[in-house]
Amino acid sequence: MAEAKTIAFHTLGCKLNFSETASLSRLMEKEGFEKRAFDALADIYVINTCSVTENADRECRYLVRQIQRKSPESFVVITGCYAQLKPKEIAEIPGVDLVLGASEKFNLATHLKELVKGDAAKICSCDIGEVKDFHDGFSVSDRTRAFLKVQDGCDYQCSFCTIPLARGKSRSDLPGHVLQNVKELAARGIKEVVLTGVNLGDFRNMEPGSGKKETGFFELAHSLDQMKEMPRFRISSIEPNLLTNEIIDLVANSDRFMPHFHIPLQSGSNRILAMMRRRYRRESMPLRSWRPLRRTEFWAFCTPGSARPAPPISCRVQSSTACGPRPAGRPRWSWRSASSCSASSRRSTAAGSTCF
Ligand code: SF4
Repeated sequence: MAEAKTIAFHTLGCKLNFSETASLSRLMEKEGFEKRAFDALADIYVINTCSVTENADRECRYLVRQIQRKSPESFVVITGCYAQLKPKEIAEIPGVDLVLGASEKFNLATHLKELVKGDAAKICSCDIGEVKDFHDGFSVSDRTRAFLKVQDGCDYQCSFCTIPLARGKSRSDLPGHVLQNVKELAARGIKEVVLTGVNLGDFRNMEPGSGKKETGFFELAHSLDQMKEMPRFRISSIEPNLLTNEIIDLVANSDRFMPHFHIPLQSGSNRILAMMRRRYRRESMPLRSWRPLRRTEFWAFCTPGSARPAPPISCRVQSSTACGPRPAGRPRWSWRSASSCSASSRRSTAAGSTCF
């Protein structure tokens, strides 16, 4: 397929997937491919899938059908979490030419060279336990904000989650490389960087044989906080057991880190948390975090139907989005205890969680 020169991407799922699609797109442009919009005609269509949403399969089939109707001669490549988890199922979708698992998606250009239209779909996948490489990436969501991938994979085994099977062991970018990427984003005019990962709080310096004291997420955030080039940072989501007081203090006292935490609390019931194999108890989360709350916003997420954390767990919510329109005269930020948030004020999110 030497003549195929135009390529279009579609991303399903999370910010991490978006940053990886953006990296793939840049890689392919370096290889000489011309990027097209997904609804335009292209020689190759790449769908970067997600395994979290219930309808991953349906969405994927729908997109492939769309491509087939529009451009039957184009190549269709499926990659991402769903491709790693269910490669055979995807390969059977009529119109799919190539399925790339977690380790192979960044070798897209090489795999495309060997592709012949009309052959049975080719699967390039591997045992997820063998995936050890880290591929950095960033995507720009608007003109001034970028999502920067600094961590991938997860060593936890929460009973409801397939992410470790789709993305493999926890691994991180090198701290120096993260700083370099931030400088590059600053040079492109980006004003806000959202630090993104699967289990972001598990970030650690994995430089082999560096002999340095291990660098964790706090040390990374501390280094970023010193960077004059970037006006704002944001932490995308952090596991409750990894959100330490020192991270909260840093964010609360920083002029660069936005005072906002997204915490996937999942449930307020210890029985449910144990069944989910989460690494914290309901008592361990809230009160150690009180000190800096004056200027820090917390979002806590529970799965629908699970017990909400009973008082004293409280969260500070942005009344204009989480609990309906802001009443006149009320401050932009308000204190609400979990129990005082009515059911009608809860909001379902795309991830299937409920914000209260
Ligand atoms: S910590 Fe998050 S990504 Fe890791 S297994 Fe649990 S839910 Fe999945």
